[in-house]
Amino acid sequence: MKITSVRTHLLEHRLAVPFESASMRFDRRSHVLVEIECDDGTIGWGECLGPARANAAVVAAYTPWLIGKDPLETEKLWLVLYNALRDQGQRGLSVTGLSGIDVALWDIKGKHFGVPVSTLLGGRWRESVRAYATGSFKRDGVDRVADNATEVATHRAAGFHAAKIKIGFGVTEDLRVIQAVREAMGPDMRLMIDANHGYDVLEAVELGRRAADFDIDWFEEPVIPEQLSAYRAVRAGQPIPVAGGETWQGRWAMKEPLETRCIDILQPDLCGTGGFTEMRRIMDMATLAGVRLVPHVWGTGVQIAASLQFMAALLPNPPRVNPIEPILEFDRTENPFRQAILTRPIEHVNGIVAIPDGPGLGIEIDRAALEEFRPKDL
Ligand SMILES: [Mg+2]
Repeated sequence: MKITSVRTHLLEHRLAVPFESASMRFDRRSHVLVEIECDDGTIGWGECLGPARANAAVVAAYTPWLIGKDPLETEKLWLVLYNALRDQGQRGLSVTGLSGIDVALWDIKGKHFGVPVSTLLGGRWRESVRAYATGSFKRDGVDRVADNATEVATHRAAGFHAAKIKIGFGVTEDLRVIQAVREAMGPDMRLMIDANHGYDVLEAVELGRRAADFDIDWFEEPVIPEQLSAYRAVRAGQPIPVAGGETWQGRWAMKEPLETRCIDILQPDLCGTGGFTEMRRIMDMATLAGVRLVPHVWGTGVQIAASLQFMAALLPNPPRVNPIEPILEFDRTENPFRQAILTRPIEHVNGIVAIPDGPGLGIEIDRAALEEFRPKDL
């Protein structure tokens, strides 16, 4: 079995209402898929987290090392590609590009052996996961306090047990949002806050101290991801558990945050931190450090399907009778790629998402949708 082609598919959708996190403005959704084809006709799909066109360029740069190679040799290919860009790479786009390739190779491996990727990873501990609703950005032209409160009420009505909202726009306004959201969702639903590294340490500590009364499960990316000592200061200075890791690529980037305990909850992104091959190692590192792992998920149906396969195989930690179950980050913002590119879209029912059990990622791609969302300048 040999790899015969590596292609990327850019997807773009202009948003009806632009929105902002503390660190980024979105007027469109852009993602890139990786398609790897083999000489026996088997096709694997992957996805890269982050800037779509930059990731597509990185995938193209890796392609000469893939053509003619055996796609089943995932560990070997991962190291060959990582070494190819190591001297100018190590983290960032060189790893996010590699992630999309690795996910596609595991999809091929699952299809070749006729089993889901989760079985290849060691076995399925669960057939479904609870999802938490991600959204509540700052949308153009509306009152953020009322808008976020209304949105979480719809998540509650849809059956979600938890929701994550965006903060990092200023402590006073953020506290008003948190209070309104907690009142709208009631006392039982779980609430998480995500600053998208929009605060400095003093702001994050003040926000965390004053928001703790609203019963918050985690405080995500309080400060910029390079400032690990700042992470530790936030963790020491306020009572809400600190989460982070969506911008840390690869096991080398996870080492110091885990060893120096910057975070209570690690959030690696499968399509950004090195694919299934690296995610398994990061899972072991988190276990060694005694840190809970909750994957970050932000992308198309391919990224959701891949994350579900990993979550099916995620080892219970600790392995007790009623284990702590992983929860799926489920983006609720305007994003047609969650559903439109899959022939059988992945949806939630009362906040529960079934994990596909077909070969590989367990999905099929709708090629007409890829064409529909191809950027107009291509
Ligand atoms: Mg986040």
